[in-house]
Amino acid sequence: MLLTILGCSGSLPGPHGPASGYLVEADGCRLAIELGSGVLAALQARHDAFSLNALLFSHLHPDHCADFTTLAVARRYHTHPPYDTRKHRLPVHGPSETADRFARAYAETADELLTTDLTDVFEFHTLVPGAVTRMGPFQITATRVDHPTEAYGFRIATKDATMAYTGDTGPCDGLRALAQGVDVLLSEATWTHSDDRPTGKHLSGVQAGQLAADAGVGRLLLTHIAPWTDRDAVLAEARTRFSGPVEVVSQGDTYAVDELKVRVIGGHGN
Ligand SMILES: [Zn+2]
Ligand SMILES: [Zn+2]
Repeated sequence: MLLTILGCSGSLPGPHGPASGYLVEADGCRLAIELGSGVLAALQARHDAFSLNALLFSHLHPDHCADFTTLAVARRYHTHPPYDTRKHRLPVHGPSETADRFARAYAETADELLTTDLTDVFEFHTLVPGAVTRMGPFQITATRVDHPTEAYGFRIATKDATMAYTGDTGPCDGLRALAQGVDVLLSEATWTHSDDRPTGKHLSGVQAGQLAADAGVGRLLLTHIAPWTDRDAVLAEARTRFSGPVEVVSQGDTYAVDELKVRVIGGHGN
């Protein structure tokens, strides 16, 4: 399983890259998780916009899905698509309002809301908490997490590797089971553990590190750090709670995830 960071800036795109977007690949199957502001550009820098086999959204805040509407443009109006996008619609898995919200975001006029639902080029599926969804080599389990909107974390397994992604969340009961024993935990850590941070909604570096320790993960990757948050401080916080390998991800990083070893195979600021 390969994990590539297309974007990791927390809550909005930052000076060093796009908002949230991750690519997970195995056995020739390519899954994108989130398509935040700027992520479609990062995807096209590596692969074309038609190269995804499925798309997964943890929740519908703009920093996780703003580029979806422009992907719709590509799938509808590209003059030379590599395949017929109406015959091979892209599966999109997300919260219950996903299809309706994306149609509203895409519609150019109020009238168009009545005629545009984007199902001509996308196939929408609503996430079911606890259910295992098969996508090619991936088995994906969605767990509800604590955020101001309907939001999920994901556990993703292949026959060789497991990873978990928290999505956006404050500390909550479901996170430990989600991450239990995975090779890689990709955890949000939006801010430092300062007394004046808002309660809930997101994790601090301390809380991400504690989650990794409690769940016994192999490696902790910190993401979704807000542009105004000190990355080094978040990393130092996580290290006070988790003694295993931990680092802050950067756009362009690629990790090979397997049960024997997690290798960093490229990136770091590219
Ligand atoms: Zn976010
Ligand atoms: Zn959010």
